[in-house]
Amino acid sequence: MPEKSLYEMAVEQFNRAVKYTDVEPDLAEILRRPKRVLVVEFPVKMDDGHIEVFTGYRVQHNIARGPAKGGIRYHPDTNLDEVKALAFWMTWKTAVMNLPFGGGKGGVKVDPKKLSKSELERLSRRYFSEIQIMIGPHNDIPAPDVNTNADVMAWFMDTYSMNVGYTALGVVTGKPVDLGGSEGREEATGRGVKVCAGLAMETLGIDPKKATVAVQGFGNVGQFAALLIAKELGSKVVAVSDSKGGVYNPSGFDVEELIKYKHEEGTVATYPKGERITNEELLELDVDVLVPAALENAIHKGNAERIKAKAVVEGANGPTTNEADEILYKRGVLVVPDILANAGGVTVSYFEWVQDLQAFFWDIDQIRNALEKMMKKAFTDVMKIKEKHNIDMRTAAYILAIERVAYATKKRGIYP
Ligand code: NAD
Repeated sequence: MPEKSLYEMAVEQFNRAVKYTDVEPDLAEILRRPKRVLVVEFPVKMDDGHIEVFTGYRVQHNIARGPAKGGIRYHPDTNLDEVKALAFWMTWKTAVMNLPFGGGKGGVKVDPKKLSKSELERLSRRYFSEIQIMIGPHNDIPAPDVNTNADVMAWFMDTYSMNVGYTALGVVTGKPVDLGGSEGREEATGRGVKVCAGLAMETLGIDPKKATVAVQGFGNVGQFAALLIAKELGSKVVAVSDSKGGVYNPSGFDVEELIKYKHEEGTVATYPKGERITNEELLELDVDVLVPAALENAIHKGNAERIKAKAVVEGANGPTTNEADEILYKRGVLVVPDILANAGGVTVSYFEWVQDLQAFFWDIDQIRNALEKMMKKAFTDVMKIKEKHNIDMRTAAYILAIERVAYATKKRGIYP
């Protein structure tokens, strides 16, 4: 069970960091609070003719540095507290990366696996229409998150475009490449995780070619993180898991084959070339790097003492509770925080938005080079602050981000 609500946990992280800055208490209070919170209850006609009412959310946490940016999640457990926390983290994530965006997030409380494709389309279009009062290429630009993908983004873009009467490619990112999407967006979060895993290993003096890695969650983030860590860093991916369970092989997996298996069978848990393990067992494996890339609160005070990895690179948002964070820090585990480690997605989303606004598209090498360069710069900037104050990387990343957002807020002044 989580020790606190997710939003409380997120604000605690902020409070820990703000003490190291000269941000005044009044200004800190502005930065803590979400700017806009929208809850929508909306009907959807199901295939059998009956009508179901769903709850959706969109939160803009802060827009001092630019339009709100952040994904939309479809999950049965999604709630306002979670969306507020995720929007809060987006503000700091875009600031750590120095992107001209604020932070936002959205969600619909639904199990999309129980819907037909046409039900999913009607739900997506109605939800997007409902939140459109807050959305636009210059106001708030959603993207994929858990259980949403390029197809859903295409419906979102089309819905907005139909409502305004012209095609607005820049209203969402993570679209299909042939429909205003960007090359490299699908792999972007995983690529950013790979860059951070490589730099974490370098910091700890671990040779990536001799390193072992476990990845919890084998969706968009987990698959690309595992693939690129294996292919480009040469590390051995020895364990992966999804919601149905995990699989372990100390000799390392052929990740491409695993991805193919996941697409065909819907899970990695039954993959025959390894031993079945639980998600709990995966987290506690004796590996060099652990990548939690599923959902929140995976590492908590109940298992933090048993985490054996030397580095934890947070592919997911909020996978480590604050209590667990302290335990890991005391035990000398290097935690590369979510607001840095999984920022590759929003960074390529930024590239996508820029390309859409300019109607001029970049090739994959340009995307990859720009992303890797920006991830390295952010990692190095955060490391410098960590070393200066002798603190954990999460607090250091917050300090960098808080100072940037505080500067924008102060410079703009308080209206009227
Ligand atoms: P996804 O839906 O593609 O994949 C999620 C994976 O986690 C699936 O394999 C699912 O089976 C697995 N999972 C769910 N519950 C689990 C559990 N209890 N134990 C183990 N595995 C479980 O989602 P995604 O886009 O890969 O997002 C994963 C995480 O990364 C989320 O926290 C998300 O907010 C974060 N994130 C995603 C992006 C992105 O670009 N997609 C960017 C930044 C952060």
